Amino acid sequence: MTASLTLEQLNTAPAPEAAAWLAGLYEHSPWITEAALAQRPFRSLAHLKHLMAGIVREAGREAQLTLIRAHPELAGKAMVSRALTAESTNEQGKAGLTDCTPDEFARLQALNTAYNTRFGFPFILAVRGPRGTGMSRQEIIATFEQRLANHPDFELGEALRNIHRIAELRLNDKFGVAPRLGNQVWDWQEELSKFSDPGYLEKGQLTVTYLTDAHRAAARLIEQTMRDSGFDEVSVDAVGNVVGRYRAAAPGAKILMTGSHYDTVRNGGKYDGRLGIFVPVACVAELSRAGQRLPFDFEVIAFAEEEGQRYKATFLGSGALIGQFNPAWLEQTDADGISMREAMQHAGLPATLEAIRALQRQPADYLGFVEVHIEQGPVLNELDMPLGIVTSINGGVRYTCEVTGMASHAGTTPMNRRRDAALAVAELALYVEQRAARDGDSVGTIGIWTVPGGSTNVVPGRCQFTLDLRAPNDAQRDAMVADVLAELKTICERRGVHHTTEQTMRAAAAPSAPDWQQRWEKAVDSLGVPLYRMPSGAGHDAMKLHEVMPQAMLFVRGQNSGISHNPLESTTSDDIDLAVQAFQHLLTQFGGTKHD
Ligand SMILES: [Zn+2]
Repeated sequence: MTASLTLEQLNTAPAPEAAAWLAGLYEHSPWITEAALAQRPFRSLAHLKHLMAGIVREAGREAQLTLIRAHPELAGKAMVSRALTAESTNEQGKAGLTDCTPDEFARLQALNTAYNTRFGFPFILAVRGPRGTGMSRQEIIATFEQRLANHPDFELGEALRNIHRIAELRLNDKFGVAPRLGNQVWDWQEELSKFSDPGYLEKGQLTVTYLTDAHRAAARLIEQTMRDSGFDEVSVDAVGNVVGRYRAAAPGAKILMTGSHYDTVRNGGKYDGRLGIFVPVACVAELSRAGQRLPFDFEVIAFAEEEGQRYKATFLGSGALIGQFNPAWLEQTDADGISMREAMQHAGLPATLEAIRALQRQPADYLGFVEVHIEQGPVLNELDMPLGIVTSINGGVRYTCEVTGMASHAGTTPMNRRRDAALAVAELALYVEQRAARDGDSVGTIGIWTVPGGSTNVVPGRCQFTLDLRAPNDAQRDAMVADVLAELKTICERRGVHHTTEQTMRAAAAPSAPDWQQRWEKAVDSLGVPLYRMPSGAGHDAMKLHEVMPQAMLFVRGQNSGISHNPLESTTSDDIDLAVQAFQHLLTQFGGTKHD
């Protein structure tokens, strides 16, 4: 083994020598690293990775197809005849593809053929996976099957993203670096995902709803992880939040709060919420190990309830800290008739309003709230950006609406004499699409759309539908809402149908506090990663804390097109590692550290 490269060496070596060092990152395609080297110096490996992805993006479709076609088939002829590059042999061997059973081998060959016929290029998968330690053959085959169903344009992008991931892992090997903290967080998340509610656990699905046995076991594991990581105080509060405190260098300091939720939706992903707990826990573990203290108390909270699954009490965990706990919730029952009060008692919580009200924080004690969260969307993944700076959590408005026309015979009513309620909604739906797109960063959805009692041979007389309209600030959202409602009125008048609308939800946008957003920006920039600012389309615990203190969020790229609320939700330990480093930077730059 030769000694590992350093970034300094790479930045200062003559180009041919540096190119030789980077040989093999991209299969049979040295032009990518050569073009990247022309842009030296690299600020970090993350910087180099991003540059290379950009070079492939700019190279155009023909060059991209050539790059993809330079790759061997998975478990294909080249593997069998031992004609792979050293890197590919190592990767396919590590994934156990050389030890396929005859059935698995036959399945992979059939998939290879089907894939190549559909897309015209070989299936490429970073078989070392998001943790770098290898996917199982079953996972590989399942991924292969899913990707076969993708749209060809999307699949081209997915192939390139896998190629960049392969290059990332190969680059790490060359530099002898591993995302140590990212791996640590990854492993904690795997461990935590072993707890799941009955009925889901058996099926290998992750479901952790408020105060079930699995939920309490998850809380205990988080508690233990915090203790093992050197937190000074760890406790479970009256609503089941796990609260860890890492004390400041001097007593009486203000507090910085962070955290996210550990409950999940049904059959959800392992990272939604939980990433925002373990990333700061890893930061405390590092501070504690180095004997360092911050000039402020650092409070990491694993919120017990955010998803509103077992009880309709969304954001219960973070809401309780700002004095928002609806007393009626205690009497609310779940699908099995168990009241929240009973569930709390069963979990050993006091189950009294007094204890819950005592959780309310004094905003004056706090510097602010920051939250790390997986993006839950496709944007960062598509742009090859590992991290995103959240500018605002979108404000949203929801309506349930109904259009009433005239139900009539589908055979005898001429087209120009109809009062079709569903067509009025169809017209509105297309308008919503255009109107939201016009803003660039607004979104509008008609998610429920039904014709009550409709039948094949009847012109729809009624159509019930919902509207979900969101934008990064309230003014932008309200302007869109006004336009959409005005359009609905116009359409209905023209078509001679009636409509009703009822607002069912209204949440204010939560723009990031400029100074905290800037701290995230400096932290991300310090990693050599480009800044990408974006609104959050989904709601988060930070929205609640926003009501009483400044807040700002950091997003981490999700794999699989950023899918979330789904078992395919995933992120790499390399991206998690960058999130930990960004958080460390934010903590230490904000007032510096002190040794014990
Ligand atoms: Zn979440």
